[in-house]
Amino acid sequence: MTILSPKQSVARLAAGSIFVGLGVMGLKFLAWWLTGSVALYSDALESIVNVIAALAAFWAIKVSHRPADSGHQYGHHKAEYFSAVLEGVLIVLAAVLILVEVWRVWQTRTVGIEAPWEGLAVNGFAAVINAGWATILIRSGRRARSPALVADGHHIMTDVFTSAGVIVGLVGAVLTGWMFLDPLLAVIVALNILWQGWKVIGSSLDGLMDRAVDMEEHVRIRDIISANSAGALEVHDLKTRIAGRATFIEFHLVVDADMTVGDSHAICDRIEAALRESIPSVRVIIHVEPDDEAKLPKGTAAVPFA
Ligand code: ZN
Ligand code: ZN
Repeated sequence: MTILSPKQSVARLAAGSIFVGLGVMGLKFLAWWLTGSVALYSDALESIVNVIAALAAFWAIKVSHRPADSGHQYGHHKAEYFSAVLEGVLIVLAAVLILVEVWRVWQTRTVGIEAPWEGLAVNGFAAVINAGWATILIRSGRRARSPALVADGHHIMTDVFTSAGVIVGLVGAVLTGWMFLDPLLAVIVALNILWQGWKVIGSSLDGLMDRAVDMEEHVRIRDIISANSAGALEVHDLKTRIAGRATFIEFHLVVDADMTVGDSHAICDRIEAALRESIPSVRVIIHVEPDDEAKLPKGTAAVPFA
């Protein structure tokens, strides 16, 4: 087995999502065609959104891995958030389409299901494929810090819950003869999809807004800086932001006003090397200052944080 770089494996997973999405979509439409069920229709409709979303994620992942260029000097990491936001919007659109179909069926009173067992078996098979694929996407996406892959995985997982609910409900409808359960289930599917779409949009917008690292990671960064800044007097104004899989860190490093540029630069290089070692895709900017910029009184413990 060959070992792929994170970039290759992320791109491969994104491409895989397109093919899995197409296969699942075919199965779900077959299930609808067999039965004429509105609930299965709503499930199939959602799978079109999955294919479009997988295409968007594939594009975003390709763009986000491009190296920095003169037009985008900090890199292209945030492209992934765009695809995640687009995915959220598509999820919401799918929910609206389902509600429109339910309304149409309700108006024309054409509720009824044919060949339920065959249709449910086909839809169930599609759901099993989706569940496996979603788990792979979420796990590898987290490992590679790819918001687009994680969003795609969560979206597909929503689909699985949707399908499971629909299948259980339709089995109930067939056994009891309560056919109104079919459109009712479609409405529940739509509401669940709306909620999931809202969550995907919210977390991606957070990324576009330059969210800082979480508290645990912040403390870890402080510890690494403290442990590697011997010779400096103080560190203050530590700021972080996350852009896709990249972490940007900046802070002020106070040194003795008489220290040479060479010596203070050596301290900076040591801190940068230590941060690079334990944080993947990190960019560090350090602003060196003389001791009259210190925020803490002189004589406090070695290299404290203000
Ligand atoms: Zn300062
Ligand atoms: Zn340098």
